[in-house]
Amino acid sequence: MKLKKDIRSLSLKELCSFFEFNNYPAFRGNQVYNWLWNKSCFSFDEMTNISLELREVLKKDFVINHIKIDEIQKSNDGTIKNAVKLFDDLLVESVLIPVKNRTTACVSSQVGCSLDCEFCATSKLKRIRNLNPDEIFDQVSTINLQSKLYYNRPISNIVFMGMGEPLLNYKNLIKGIEMITNEDGLGMSPKRITVSTSGISKLIIKMADENVKFNLAVSLHSAIEETRNKIMPFSSKFPLTDLKEAVKYWSDKTQKTVTYEYIVWKGINDDSKHIDALVSFCKYSPSKVNIIEYNKTENDFFIPADDDIIKKYISELEKNRIPVTIRKSRGKDIDAACGQLANKLKQ
Ligand code: SAH
Repeated sequence: MKLKKDIRSLSLKELCSFFEFNNYPAFRGNQVYNWLWNKSCFSFDEMTNISLELREVLKKDFVINHIKIDEIQKSNDGTIKNAVKLFDDLLVESVLIPVKNRTTACVSSQVGCSLDCEFCATSKLKRIRNLNPDEIFDQVSTINLQSKLYYNRPISNIVFMGMGEPLLNYKNLIKGIEMITNEDGLGMSPKRITVSTSGISKLIIKMADENVKFNLAVSLHSAIEETRNKIMPFSSKFPLTDLKEAVKYWSDKTQKTVTYEYIVWKGINDDSKHIDALVSFCKYSPSKVNIIEYNKTENDFFIPADDDIIKKYISELEKNRIPVTIRKSRGKDIDAACGQLANKLKQ
């Protein structure tokens, strides 16, 4: 049996050429492309302005690997977590987070994760594969529909803070974002998109060289090498000095401010040595700090720091004119908060 191709792996140009090659007008390519991306359709039969005959031609060669929602969980705070089934039956999770009159979509970039952050539930899953651009796109378009349905508004922001390390799926991430921002897709502004990385320096430099327009967040958690290597062991391969330089390079090129994500734990980074290190790290290039509330996973080793020390972090950062915000967790009761995505229902 002929293996059918994922039709959304074709560019618009390739799609138009397919039609020309089969003796159909090239503009049919534009129409189909619009169905596939802008309308995010599930099947060829939805393409009502395409003749039945032509739909059959497409069915012979192609499939539409649209994601399917396997399960929806709703939190008391309005957060919605989707268990998303991929064409090969693998699962990832994505989250709709309503905040006042805005909605943020938190999406995954990989099935599992190859990194080993000790405090993150996803890291226990191991990386199985990268998500395709259309699977990244579908998570966003699905949450956009849910936002309209449940909250009467489209999504306002997208964060790549779900499962996986986005920069280790670089090509597909960029292609996915291209379709999210493209008028043929969702037409969202890249200013509303934030990619969060655990800090793969050479890919931060690559992004800067490619002059990407979305925002960058780096999960720092400690500006002291020894501590960081302990809680994020993979980072021993990516020294903090390289990360600092890469972020500076990115800021210089894009004229943007990086956000450092930072969790404070008891006995790990709750002392003045760590505060001072963070302040001097942040002073190296334009940055802001987002202090994240720690969400419990099955690892009891990590205990959130006392409020006093968080206040000290905030006052030292502010004293040094480094903007700082605190991110309260959302969707904790359904394991939808940062670091809790682990396909729990399915294990
Ligand atoms: N791999 C990427 C994106 C996924 S994690 C990254 O590391 O940035 C998204 C954010 O959740 C990161 O800042 C991560 O450090 C944070 N996180 C992981 N586990 C967490 C937990 N248990 N509680 C709170 N935040 C967590």
